[in-house]
Amino acid sequence: MLANHHSKLLHLNRNVGLAVLGMVAVQLLAGGMVNATALTLLWPALAVPVAISVVYIALVEGARYLLHQMHTYWQHHESEPDTPTGIRLFGTVLQVTTLAFIAAVYGLTASVWVAALLPIPVVGAYFIYRSRLAMGLGIAVACTGLVLGGLHAPSVISSVFEQAAPNASPVALGVTSMVMALLPLLLWWQLGGYIASLVGSSSHQVNRLQSLATTDPLTGLMNRRLLMHQLQIELSRARRHNSPLCVAMFDVDHFKRVNDVYGHQAGDRILKELGGLIHQNVRDCDLGGRYGGEEFALILPETRQAEAAELMERIRATVERHVFCLPDNPMTITISVGLAQMDAATNQSKDDMIHLADAALYEAKQQGRNRVIYGVLPVPKVSYTKSYAAF
Ligand code: GH3
Ligand code: MG
Ligand code: MG
Repeated sequence: MLANHHSKLLHLNRNVGLAVLGMVAVQLLAGGMVNATALTLLWPALAVPVAISVVYIALVEGARYLLHQMHTYWQHHESEPDTPTGIRLFGTVLQVTTLAFIAAVYGLTASVWVAALLPIPVVGAYFIYRSRLAMGLGIAVACTGLVLGGLHAPSVISSVFEQAAPNASPVALGVTSMVMALLPLLLWWQLGGYIASLVGSSSHQVNRLQSLATTDPLTGLMNRRLLMHQLQIELSRARRHNSPLCVAMFDVDHFKRVNDVYGHQAGDRILKELGGLIHQNVRDCDLGGRYGGEEFALILPETRQAEAAELMERIRATVERHVFCLPDNPMTITISVGLAQMDAATNQSKDDMIHLADAALYEAKQQGRNRVIYGVLPVPKVSYTKSYAAF
């Protein structure tokens, strides 16, 4: 990832060299159009910038090749270093070299369009270290270069133009300047793309980390941390709007046996498939997650106990009927469910609700498993199915 960003930056650095060459070419072309004397006068003045540019481009291309080799090595060894200090140093040296290169060409040509390339290494240096100090130092160096170059360098090109073609048309000079302005503009455009890709990839990484921290890797459901966080939110919401809220905890029956008979990997496959089954069978507003091991929890907002019991009974029956596709042994499992409803009269915490649902789950196990039990304060007696009872 890091090598990829550096490679993009080196691409930009290389283009700085090409842009300078392009500017020199435009000036020579313009001189050639004015007259032959202008061309012979211009060429010596531009020979040094051309030579510096060629050396600079060769340097950057060499660095790019080196980086590519290192990247291939890392990929081969699957070990991109966590703190690639060397790579950062390498990138910084290149940005400083780019600054020096631009300053040198600016000093030689006094062309404002060359100076317009200065933001590229400055921004590059900032993004290597992500530090304002690096940005500040880069800007300071660039400004110093600009002032020194502007004060001391004779405006070689314009003075040569004046010598060679004192009556050069202002339109021709204007067109030359416009074409020269186009090159730094193209590079700024590329720089914008580079920054956008950096910002996009860092926000993508933040999202990825967030999802890793809150998702159960096996089932893809919420993990316990996010589940408890959501329960707190739903509990507060239910209290504020005086609306009902239920929590269901359920646990696979005799799961240890599944592991013992078919192996832990088969157990994992079942848990994964069970996660998918839960996801498919709850309503959009319900929040399901893996509480731990082979225990799952469902938060059921805006749901009264009778509705919750009905929903959980449906899920229980669906799991009971479902044939899990183990490679050689299609098999079925059952779950026991404990339900708890928020009690609006008391100041129940999320832990109280989980505890109540867990106690009901324990009771479901005690009563013979594969059933839904609710463990709430007085509720109307519901005779739902033989496997659904209150305690
Ligand atoms: P019951 O709940 O019906 O009382 O019996 P059980 O056998 O399911 O209960 P117990 O809590 O004793 O065993 C749970 C088993 O679940 C033990 C553990 O090996 C297994 N388990 C927990 N997490 C995972 C997991 O991520 N993958 C697999 N394969 N097994 C797991
Ligand atoms: Mg179990
Ligand atoms: Mg268990």
